[in-house]
Amino acid sequence: MKKVMEIRDLTIIGGGPTGLAAAFRAGMHEISARIIETASQLGGQVTALYPEKKIYDVFGLPEVLGKELVHNLIKQGLQFGAEVCLGESVKGLRFAGQGEPIEIVTDRNSYPTRTVLLAGGLGLITPRKHDAQGCDRFEGKGVYYSVRDPELFRGKKVVIVGGGDSALDWVLNLRPIAARITLVHRSQEFAGHASTLREVQQLADFGHIGLHTSTLLTAAHGNGKLEAITVRNSRGVEQTMEAQALLPMIGFHVNLGSMENWGLEFQEKKIVVNSRMETNLPGVFAAGDMVTYPGKIKLIATGFAEAAIAVKSAVEYVHPGEKVRVQYSSVAGLPKASKALALAGN
Ligand SMILES: Cc1cc2nc3c(=O)[nH]c(=O)nc-3n(C[C@H](O)[C@H](O)[C@H](O)COP(=O)(O)OP(=O)(O)OC[C@H]3O[C@@H](n4cnc5c(N)ncnc54)[C@H](O)[C@@H]3O)c2cc1C
Repeated sequence: MKKVMEIRDLTIIGGGPTGLAAAFRAGMHEISARIIETASQLGGQVTALYPEKKIYDVFGLPEVLGKELVHNLIKQGLQFGAEVCLGESVKGLRFAGQGEPIEIVTDRNSYPTRTVLLAGGLGLITPRKHDAQGCDRFEGKGVYYSVRDPELFRGKKVVIVGGGDSALDWVLNLRPIAARITLVHRSQEFAGHASTLREVQQLADFGHIGLHTSTLLTAAHGNGKLEAITVRNSRGVEQTMEAQALLPMIGFHVNLGSMENWGLEFQEKKIVVNSRMETNLPGVFAAGDMVTYPGKIKLIATGFAEAAIAVKSAVEYVHPGEKVRVQYSSVAGLPKASKALALAGN
């Protein structure tokens, strides 16, 4: 049976950069907040897709690793005591009527809330799995769909499959660590950044990496763990090579799940919001990669700004008729965490 949960002023669906920024803004406005995140970790796309890559366009941080940015966002965002529910997918919203709490239904619980912020980004992110024979058998035992710790690849013969930015970046990032890197791509054309591709091509020209274009990965072999892979080129010639690690970087599936059936207005799979980040549903706001409005761009920086606007709108919804002021943190300082925590139980 589902537990009855305490009400929150704001429930944030999605613990990516936008959701974490929203938790911080909720604390600044001294409203109670809860984040519900389907993944087992916070950080959204940054954690799922590029924790080890450097980010250069988060202003004030000329260069920051994805995982470091997430670490700091968590520290900053959760300091006022926002509750975090990990590993739970929101399946729907129930509206009891005007002035009544909204009920958020997940696969495990129901959470009452006064307002909702949809910060689900691209939706549920899952890597596209390679269908070559044996790949499924060695998942986690030599076949990996993301790089959590580059040290895992130290001294190993690594085969990377793909032709986009992720594949090319990991060729460059793992080369100093791995014993040997081989890149396998099904086409002659690459989709990655031109300068990265040039670097990879140069490494291949000098024999520092193996490069197989117009080539398919056909099988993964081993006894309990990955030991070798087989590829086949466009002329039908097969080659088996030793490999202790295989990284298929062939994209990912994104899925909005049931969200498309919640009564929200969508445009090209994005939630339509106005300049106050209001959706068409009362008390429901949205921000970050999920939303669309004229001129929208999908960046961490824009998600931060939209989170600030959305939370202010949510506070105005919670306290109708009251003038909601946005305080400068440099002038007002931080509200006391204890106060926000106490409010959490209101
Ligand atoms: C390879 C790559 C590199 C990038 N590099 C940069 C860069 O250098 N600079 C930059 O500014 N931007 C970059 N971006 C874009 C940036 O990552 C996104 O703009 C940012 O992550 C959006 O944050 P968000 O919180 O809105 O969404 P997300 O990061 O997608 O987070 C949304 C979270 O919501 C969760 N969620 C979704 N649906 C549900 C549900 N129903 N229930 C519960 N939880 C749910 C998801 O699991 C996810 O964790 C990059 C993106 C990619 C893919």
